Amino acid sequence: QVDPEKAQVELNGQKLTYGTDFLADANSGAVNAPLVFAGNGWFVKSKNIDPLKNMDVRGKTVVIYSDNYPRGLNPQELSSSGKYGEDWADPQTYVKQKGAVGLIVVSTPNLQAGWGNLRRFRENGRFAVEKLRESTDDASIPTIYLTEKAAANVFDGEIMNLPKITETYASAAPLNAFNFSANKKMNISVAAKKEVTMTQNVVALWEGSDSQLKNEMVAVGAHYDHDGIRPNAQGADKIWNGADDDGSGTVAVLAIGEALAKATKRPKRSVLLVWHAGEEKGLWGSKYFNKFPTVNIKNVVAQLNIDMIGRSRKTTDTNPKNKSLSGEDEIYVIGSEMMSSKLGEVTKSINDSFLKLGYNYKYDDPKDTNQFFFRSDHYHYAVNGIPIVFWFDGEHEDYHQASDHADKIDYRKMEKVSRTIFLTMWEIADLQTRPVVDKQLPAELTRR
Ligand SMILES: [Zn+2]
Repeated sequence: QVDPEKAQVELNGQKLTYGTDFLADANSGAVNAPLVFAGNGWFVKSKNIDPLKNMDVRGKTVVIYSDNYPRGLNPQELSSSGKYGEDWADPQTYVKQKGAVGLIVVSTPNLQAGWGNLRRFRENGRFAVEKLRESTDDASIPTIYLTEKAAANVFDGEIMNLPKITETYASAAPLNAFNFSANKKMNISVAAKKEVTMTQNVVALWEGSDSQLKNEMVAVGAHYDHDGIRPNAQGADKIWNGADDDGSGTVAVLAIGEALAKATKRPKRSVLLVWHAGEEKGLWGSKYFNKFPTVNIKNVVAQLNIDMIGRSRKTTDTNPKNKSLSGEDEIYVIGSEMMSSKLGEVTKSINDSFLKLGYNYKYDDPKDTNQFFFRSDHYHYAVNGIPIVFWFDGEHEDYHQASDHADKIDYRKMEKVSRTIFLTMWEIADLQTRPVVDKQLPAELTRR
């Protein structure tokens, strides 16, 4: 996160105050370079938005008058404008590609209105897993944000003053780039600070009974993290319990472990139980486990992912937020046939010969607009070549709310789904040959 103590900005020798005059991104660096105005600062090739086309900004600090999106474009239009970084780019990426060494963002009224959030977000910082970091993560240039008031002085005596820029931006007229006068000096120094904390996946291995097959494993997993405590949340309840998401899966995997321990015999293959950390932060635990596995991951024959199996929709429930929640004897099954016909067949036949739950395959579609396939831990196993099955009860009124409480869980349903997954796991563990991967993961599903 940004270190407010170390953030310093001077305009022609005049010190600005952190918080009231300016904010900064958490990119360390110091710059004192000539200033260039780059209009709105965005680059969108298809719309001919390329404010620095005829300007040389190498070694300079770029000043922009900017909002969260390019002027006149909405997020959909932006993301459908081609490839990020080539066909379109946010100001930071764009000016850095052009060789600029610093970026000053002058607040539009809209950005100014969100100043508090802008500040909180930068001071709270970003989280990343040390060993999963990309080398480019730290490469951004020093970037500061100026309030309208502080920015007025920056444009003093230049080709356009701030009121003129504000007026031009609000109209449809072009907001052209220009060089600031040579005696305009902006001295910027910002620093990021870093906190290191630890977390862990919890991994257990139950050895199989067959001298050969025990080298292979059926993996069963869930995530034990949720959204934690949100001190700034509205209302009295600041604790996101995550009883369904994914307390239900966490407990199901525990129960499966207990049932294995109490069984009078062992399945032929070994069983790998993994409780993943950091799923809600971006599938960290499963990504980490597949990159740095504690077992020979190529010997994992299938991964069964349990993420939300504890809620059900009563037939009398008319809340539109629960309209896609599965019923008392129903559960969504995703991905079982996407890579292995055999895995799909076993998953289905075990259920048909046991509790006959309503297996709903509605989201089992590479073109699913909810993209549930990308939204839980099985994803990192699948792209690692391991066929997966994902059990999921559907979104509901308490999904990612403080109100995802344990007293709302349908424990009968949770038990039935858990028992069915246990038997599915056992059946796969006892197969003569591991489920053959006979299909390629659809191309839509390989890029998150
Ligand atoms: Zn979840």
